[in-house]
Amino acid sequence: MKCRKCGGRAVLELRRHNTAFCADDFQAFFRHHTLETIRRWQMFTREEPVLVAVSGGKDSLALWDVLLEAGYTTAGLYLDLGIFDYSRESKARCQAFAAERGARLIVVAVAETVGAGIPLVEQATRRPTCSACGLSKRYLMNRTALEQGFTVVATGHNLDDEAATLFGSTLRWDEASLARQTPVLEATHPKLVRRVKPLFRLSERETAAYAFLRGIDYIVEECPFARGATSITHKDVLNRLEDASPGSKASFLLTYLDRARPRFQAGDPVELRECARCGQTTTGEVCAFCKLADQVRRHREAAGALSPAGPVAVETDDPAGSRGLVSDLDAASEIHAS
Ligand code: SF4
Ligand SMILES: [Zn+2]
Ligand SMILES: [Zn+2]
Repeated sequence: MKCRKCGGRAVLELRRHNTAFCADDFQAFFRHHTLETIRRWQMFTREEPVLVAVSGGKDSLALWDVLLEAGYTTAGLYLDLGIFDYSRESKARCQAFAAERGARLIVVAVAETVGAGIPLVEQATRRPTCSACGLSKRYLMNRTALEQGFTVVATGHNLDDEAATLFGSTLRWDEASLARQTPVLEATHPKLVRRVKPLFRLSERETAAYAFLRGIDYIVEECPFARGATSITHKDVLNRLEDASPGSKASFLLTYLDRARPRFQAGDPVELRECARCGQTTTGEVCAFCKLADQVRRHREAAGALSPAGPVAVETDDPAGSRGLVSDLDAASEIHAS
């Protein structure tokens, strides 16, 4: 197999593009594709400092690498979720990556703002871990960006992530999720920053190849809570389709964005105001994150004061607020900067 560009030995075949590249030309292809996506979708300008949400995984570190190489002003944001060894190891990867490149890394611990790491949040709220985690990530990304003077946050979502999310939303005909499926979530309120996904047209296999060829030391293990997630089944189904018909994933996602999304978008007007407690945006009086932190605090108080034998699941005394929380958590569950 020969490189389409230089005729040298190809290291990677890209069936959906009907092409193959050597190591150098694949890296050039990957960079060009990412920068072209940023330009075409007007994700951010050369002058804008970009906060890159990094998890220690291949996608977000590959994205940060491309932006640094291209000369963008960036800082990394690592959210420490407090998930046992997974968090310790992924944080170490991000710190080493930043140190090697002399780049700035901001570390924010969920436990410092919510009162506990993600595993305990799940016990306290009795909600699916990934929902509570997604909500916390979305909130802390936005708040940190505002506090540190960034107008845009970039995440490492790739084509496989985005196609799987779209597939899941379509199976449920979840109109609100379908409306939010976009590589550029504009800031629709002064207290929101833009969220962009510059890798959304590149597959997981391509980001893995780029990270490998660049010698990026990333965490290979998945978060322990990812096991058994429905999104993994959706990815498997899409991979089978892709095997049978290369280009299916990209066509599913890109055609949706081009033709169908505007219809869902029109039907999803949301009025935002500022949370009475923290000032971040919400559709209610108090935002879902503040309610989550309250639940965690009550759980810890109850566990400490009433049940020395172990944690106690705390019921909310605000059923209406709880229903709002559940829907906000669901809305946030797609946020997973891999
Ligand atoms: S799988 Fe992702 S969203 Fe779920 S708990 Fe782990 S890091 Fe959070
Ligand atoms: Zn070549
Ligand atoms: Zn709040």
